[in-house]
Amino acid sequence: MHQHFPLFNSHLDLAHHYWKRVIGEGDWIIDATCGNGHDSLILAILLQNGGLIGLDIQQKALESTRLRLNSSGINAPIYLFQQSHVSFPALAYEHPIRLIVYNLGYLPGGDKSLTTQTDTTLTSINAALQLLEPGGLLSITCYPGHEEGGKEQEALISQLSQLKSSDWNVCHHTFPHRILAPSLLLIQKSCKYK
Ligand code: SAM
Repeated sequence: MHQHFPLFNSHLDLAHHYWKRVIGEGDWIIDATCGNGHDSLILAILLQNGGLIGLDIQQKALESTRLRLNSSGINAPIYLFQQSHVSFPALAYEHPIRLIVYNLGYLPGGDKSLTTQTDTTLTSINAALQLLEPGGLLSITCYPGHEEGGKEQEALISQLSQLKSSDWNVCHHTFPHRILAPSLLLIQKSCKYK
C-alpha cells in the first residue's frame, strides 16, 4: 500500500541529503547565517570528530543557536561568532572546511531590515569558494519572495554561472510553478581543484 505524501515538498530535504553525504571524519562545517539555530543543530549532528563554526550579525540569533545546541546535548566543538560573513574568522582557515551553509534572508520573527544583502553575500560566497576543500559543498537557500532576496538570487545565479565547469558543479533546485518559493543552490568544488 503506497502512502500519499509529497515526495519533494521542500528544498530542505534535498539540502539535508547532500549535507549528510558530503561530511566525513574530521571535516569542519560553517553555518554562515545561524539565525535560530535549526540548521546549526542538523549540521552539528552530522559532525564526525570535526567542528562547527557559526556566524550571525545578531546576538539574539547566536543566543537562540547556543540554546538549541546546548539543549540537544551535542558534544562537539562549536564556535559561534557575532560578525558578518563578509569575511570568515581566522579559525576557519585552520581547519578543513567541507561544507558551508547559507540560509539567506532575515531572522524569522525578527527585524526584517537585518536581512542578508546582495553585495556582502556575493563577497562572502567568493571567500567561501576559496575556503572550501576540494570535494566540498556550498549550500545556499535563497528567498526570492522578498525584494532583496529576489535580487540576491539573481545576482548569485549570474555570478555562479561563470564558474568553470571543470572546477565546479553548480545546481539550482527550484519549483517552476512556485517561482517565489525558497530555492536551493548547491555548488561543489571539484576533487581535482588545485
Ligand atoms: N539558518 C537559520 C536557522 O536555521 O534558523 C536561519 C537564518 S535566517 C533566514 C538569516 C540570518 O542571517 C539572520 O539571523 C540574520 O541575522 C543573518 N544575517 C544577515 N546578514 C548577515 C551577515 N552579513 N552575516 C552573517 N549573518 C547575517
